Amino acid sequence: MSNTFDVLILGGGSGGYATALRAAQLGLSVALIEKDKLGGTCLHRGCIPTKALLHAGEVADQTREAEAFGVKAELIGVDMSGVNAYKDGVVAGLYKGLQGLIKSAKVTYVEGTGKLVGPTTVEVAGVQYTGRNLVLATGSYSKTLPGLEVDGEYVIASEHALVLDRVPASAVVLGGGVIGVEFASAWKSFGTDVTIVEALPRLVAAEDEEISKTLERSFRKRGINFKTGKPFEKVEKTDAGVRVTIQGGETIEAELLLVAVGRGPVTAGIGYEEQGLKMERGFVLTDERLRTNLPNVFAVGDIVPGLQLAHRGFAQGIFVAEEIAGLNPVPVVESGIPRATYCDPEIASVGITEAQAKEKHGAENVETYNYNLGGNGKSKILRTQGFVKLVRVKDGPVVGVHMIGARMSEQVGEAALIVNWEAFPAEVAQLIHAHPSQNEALGEAHLALAGKPLHAHA
Ligand SMILES: Cc1cc2nc3c(=O)[nH]c(=O)nc-3n(C[C@H](O)[C@H](O)[C@H](O)COP(=O)(O)OP(=O)(O)OC[C@H]3O[C@@H](n4cnc5c(N)ncnc54)[C@H](O)[C@@H]3O)c2cc1C
Repeated sequence: MSNTFDVLILGGGSGGYATALRAAQLGLSVALIEKDKLGGTCLHRGCIPTKALLHAGEVADQTREAEAFGVKAELIGVDMSGVNAYKDGVVAGLYKGLQGLIKSAKVTYVEGTGKLVGPTTVEVAGVQYTGRNLVLATGSYSKTLPGLEVDGEYVIASEHALVLDRVPASAVVLGGGVIGVEFASAWKSFGTDVTIVEALPRLVAAEDEEISKTLERSFRKRGINFKTGKPFEKVEKTDAGVRVTIQGGETIEAELLLVAVGRGPVTAGIGYEEQGLKMERGFVLTDERLRTNLPNVFAVGDIVPGLQLAHRGFAQGIFVAEEIAGLNPVPVVESGIPRATYCDPEIASVGITEAQAKEKHGAENVETYNYNLGGNGKSKILRTQGFVKLVRVKDGPVVGVHMIGARMSEQVGEAALIVNWEAFPAEVAQLIHAHPSQNEALGEAHLALAGKPLHAHA
């Protein structure tokens, strides 16, 4: 067997396996090197297991609230072994399916840790594999703060939180970004007393400010505690768990501390520096065609600066495979990537925030409209609150859609089409949205912004 391939890929997560599948479809010979499990962070320690936990939490909350729908039910408890079995079953099914896809695509799958030993050559357990093109897709790891040691028991990261065998009685979540608020939300649904500690002035600080405000109001109502603008100072071990000190000297006692302060690139110790790969703060630098400074070496996914999202990795993987095949694909535009946060209530957005639009286009040239879900029949049926906010350039297209409310992640597909197609409100207002659906809220918001609101005030 020859060890030279058209496309050699290091890392079998979202970015790496998407590259492999598309390259194989295009008739290229492909090898994929993975040291752990095909599917990477997203499938085994990220997107999928967290969403299973959140869904189990939703079932618990619905049981608690059943009376409001006239259904007699009582929440007796949450059995984590049952929750984990459900979650693991979902992951196992998808894992099996993905293994089947890679096998039937005739991708050469190499198990083991790879190290770059030449410009496009990777060594795995003493065997060298060379690519006419090399795609780096080694992903990311849970970061911590200087001096804050993650022991996996009392001070844990998301990968530990996903395999807990119990519902913690109390927890401090360090970081109010996407991962932090998702765990805080799921744990609260399971019955944990949760406190989020965030150094920035608001939760989900990357989102539009009004989204943060509404999330904070909802979390307050749900009894999720949070301290914003309060940097973490230290954690000490106590008999019952941990004592966390935040700026100002306030302490919070809890069974455990979840560190969710972001993800760093996995790029150290695998020969990247030795081959002269250009990096910054550990991230691999690329141009918009995802080419690194080394000839025929590409990078995709979380190691490339930008949004650390699985679907960005998929899109970049498909792009790189097509680029290698000479199809001259259109580059992935970062601002067009939809974002979803699956806490309760869910957050979904695409494009730029109101503040960013004002900075870019001038405050006088930006219009916004908030459609309150209070006027949306399906949201009322679900007993959820929130809004759909549109940001548009005056007399121009919609440049941002920001949504909060139960199940709003399901609406982000149309929002992404609107923003990426640079649609005008009047054009979207022409499209008919099914009644009653939460999707209607998007339609209503555009009707209103086009000057012809139906179930809303102008
Ligand atoms: C808790 C959590 C929740 C998340 N939820 C979402 C979500 O809901 N939606 C979303 O879009 N994103 C989510 N993400 C982010 C998503 O998981 C990542 O953006 C995505 O996995 C990145 O894909 P990747 O291919 O770049 O890296 P990874 O998925 O990290 O894959 C990299 C792979 O490379 C392998 N590897 C590394 N070094 C080597 C080596 N030297 N040799 C061989 N193999 C190697 C690793 O074992 C790994 O399998 C979440 C992440 C976390 C942690």
